[in-house]
Formats: sequence, C-alpha cells, structure tokens
Amino acid sequence: MARLLFVSDLHLSPQRPLLLERFAALLEREAGRCGGLYILGDLFDAWIGDDDPSPFASQVRALLARFSAATPAFFLRGNRDFMVGERFADETGLRLLPDEHRLEVGERRLLLMHGDQLCTNDVEYQQVRALVRTPRFREEAMRKGIEERRALAAEYRRRSGESLSLKADDIMDVAPEAVVRALREAGADLLVHGHTHRPAIHRLRLDGTPAQRVVLPDWREEEPRLGFWLESGKQGWLRMA
Ligand code: MN
Repeated sequence: MARLLFVSDLHLSPQRPLLLERFAALLEREAGRCGGLYILGDLFDAWIGDDDPSPFASQVRALLARFSAATPAFFLRGNRDFMVGERFADETGLRLLPDEHRLEVGERRLLLMHGDQLCTNDVEYQQVRALVRTPRFREEAMRKGIEERRALAAEYRRRSGESLSLKADDIMDVAPEAVVRALREAGADLLVHGHTHRPAIHRLRLDGTPAQRVVLPDWREEEPRLGFWLESGKQGWLRMA
C-alpha cells in the first residue's frame, strides 16, 4: 500500500502567495509518488463558484490538473469552499467526495469529513450551514454575478462559526458526543478531519475498542505544516508532517 496524504484548511487566497507556492511544491514533489491525495475542505479561503475567471483560480486549477493526471486526488467540501462543483472537478481531475466519506485502508476503517458538522454546540452556525449546503442555495447563488457572489461570500464568512479569524481560539471545537456518534454510525476506527485548526492525534475508546481522531493542521505562512500521512503496515501507521 502506498502512502496517502490528507490535507485541509490550506485557506489558499491571492493574499497568501506563499501558501500557494508551498502547495505547488507539494504537488510537484508528490505527483506520481504518493498513492493518493485527500483534500478535506477549505482548500480555498473562499470559493465563489467554478466560473471564477481570476488568475489565482486558474493557477490552482492548472496545478491540480497536472497533479491528478499522475495521482488520484480527492476533494471534500469545507465551509469556505462548499461552492466547489462538478465543473471544478472536471477541470482539475479531482474526484468529489460526499460530506462524510468512508474509506478502508488496510485494516483501518476511516471516516473523512471537513469537521464543521461536528461543532454541534454552535447552533447558529449549524443553521446557516443547513441553509447554504442545499442544491437550491447553490443554484440560486450561481445565477448571481461574480461580484455579488464575492460580497455574499464575505458576508457568509462574517456569519460563520469561524468569523473572520483563522485562530483556533475563535473557532468552536468539536463536540465529543458528535465525534463518537459519527464514528459509531460509520463503523469507523479512524476519523480524519480539519476545520478546527487544532492539529492533534487523539486516542479514544469506542464501545471498548480503541479509535483515533486525527485533526489536520491549518496552513500558515510562518509554519510549514502539511497534513497527515497514512502509510503501509498491518495496522496502517500515522504520521503528522
Ligand atoms: Mn473550515
């Protein structure tokens, strides 16, 4: 089994060119070498629609298309880039995953998600999430012009649980009971998610058996953290990078 790489919360934007550089270098280095790349949401600080004609959006599309021609790459939407759609997937070769995705790797049963749905104590945020994550909201939004969507995205960020800050202290953490429920319902023993910007490998017990929860790091210009590798071995072993 080859190495799999999981990343999330890169928050790429034209305002943080260093992060885009780092992402480009990662893709170049791993294309054709790792067994798969899983992007678990918030690849973008904001994504206003697949028809975004900006040079920044085009650059990311080109990087991903080149990578995915050599290596399987998967994308699961986050709260900042839930507007990513089929067109983006077609143009980049990324395979879109549902909000909760099960994956078996060796003997490990993984559950992948962005993680915002685990923050169930943030009731107001969950209400907004339920509203904006419907096909109808997406269709109506896409009928608006790019500039109007840009303004709406800024407004949505103000109202989201993350507010305008990317600091962990300003993002609500997951609710432990939501973690247990998600693992149990999926029959999984390894939950991998991002969103909270609190990178860690947590050990827990689930109905008497050991389970783990990997929280992916957010990308920061001052700290070159990547994500999390799952590599071969009987149990599958874990490493933060
Ligand atoms: Mn997020």
